[in-house]
Amino acid sequence: MKIEEVQSQTKKQRIATHTHIKGLGLEPNGKAMPLAAGFVGQAAAREAAGLVVDMIRQKKMAGRALLLAGPPGTGKTAIALGISQDLGSKVPFCPMVGSEVYSSEVKKTEVLMENFRRAIGLRIKENKEVTELSPEETESVTGGYGKSISHVIIGLKTVKGTKQLKLDPTIYDALIKEKVAVGDVIYIEGNSGAVKRVGRSDAFATEFDLEAEEYVPLPKGEVHKKKEIVQVVNRYIDEGVAELVPGVLFIDEVHMLDMECFSYLNRALESSLSPIVIFATNRGIYNVASVYWLPTVINVRLLGGGLGTMDTPLVCPMTSWTPGDMFWHVHPDVGTDMTSPHGIPVDLLDRLVIMRTETYGPAEMIQILAIRAQVEELVVDEESLAYLGEIGQQASLRFTLRFRHAVQLLSPASVVAKMNGRDNICKADLEEVGTLYLDAKSSARLLQEQQDRELC
Ligand code: ATP
Repeated sequence: MKIEEVQSQTKKQRIATHTHIKGLGLEPNGKAMPLAAGFVGQAAAREAAGLVVDMIRQKKMAGRALLLAGPPGTGKTAIALGISQDLGSKVPFCPMVGSEVYSSEVKKTEVLMENFRRAIGLRIKENKEVTELSPEETESVTGGYGKSISHVIIGLKTVKGTKQLKLDPTIYDALIKEKVAVGDVIYIEGNSGAVKRVGRSDAFATEFDLEAEEYVPLPKGEVHKKKEIVQVVNRYIDEGVAELVPGVLFIDEVHMLDMECFSYLNRALESSLSPIVIFATNRGIYNVASVYWLPTVINVRLLGGGLGTMDTPLVCPMTSWTPGDMFWHVHPDVGTDMTSPHGIPVDLLDRLVIMRTETYGPAEMIQILAIRAQVEELVVDEESLAYLGEIGQQASLRFTLRFRHAVQLLSPASVVAKMNGRDNICKADLEEVGTLYLDAKSSARLLQEQQDRELC
């Protein structure tokens, strides 16, 4: 049986819910517009974020990072994305969650390092000089059309050797049109001179599709390849063909990181190649985590061929066991006795610019829901939006639960509307799905009541 590798969609999904965010929506004087660039309200935080963008541009954030503290659903991720967009339309944005670092297979610091690298883009500089050259000159350099040229890069230098390839404007335009990037292997066609991209050089093999013509995410590679990649990238930078663009690394739920991660981050922020790091948390005073895997030998009892009493998942192979086998049982040991603001040790806290996000009022909530509905191409009438606003005002629920519940009703309501032969969502659809789905607090209360009845 073949086991297919499943590609993680988490990062894409994490960004998908923010497709309406196009920037921080600030006026040139730094004031937040009430509704702009997909942003509603949260004016103080957006204005503070605008100042951070200025500080980044003036290189005053070197060695420092930003922390967004606020309840869930108050737009921390949206603000981090807005910052990256205001820094430049193609500045890389790399989101991750603190708990992603925990795996029994990959070291925590490796995971962090990988994300640091993903948050740095490589910008290929265009070399305008080449456009002045004629097709004859081009032919003399390339040895005539019809030959494949390995490793052509925009800027028109070969990776092998420093000789500059001189191509005529048509080919140059074709390179740009084809979005040829660093490491691309291209083929220039016989008579027409058309450019065809035929692959990528190994050194730049990457799991990402190229989204922008002048950015190539730093490649993901085996450990032994990393040195080679760094050498190649360094050479491009030395030759002036490419430059590194620090993007934004967004680490949500930073309180989930542990001491080892924090000391890594302290060092990584010092690096001249560090991306802009934005942390987010919804915790106040919190225990600083310390997570390590503790190997223990346990005696596995198999009852009737099944697995005996185990309370934590095994990470060793589950095949060919016989009763009484001894296994290495690896489980995490979590937590230090040390508490700290946001679960972050003081030496990292000292490096942070901290800003907070506030919960929304019903009017803002309705506006955000209306924007989301529009992006998801759902037609929601005024009455339905008002009804969602009422859900948002239920004082018995925490803000996050109300907001999430209201957002979560939208998609099933659109399915119900379709089943009833309509494209637009009306209040009746929301009421119908409202009876089918519970908010988190109601569902917990119902289960608790049931448990209590059974105990009586
Ligand atoms: P969590 O702590 O759970 O990660 P968060 O504070 O990062 O939450 P977001 O995920 O940014 O909150 O916000 C939830 C949803 O609401 C997202 O779709 C986000 O784009 C949208 N949103 C939040 N605040 C605003 C706002 N002020 N204007 C427009 N959309 C917003």
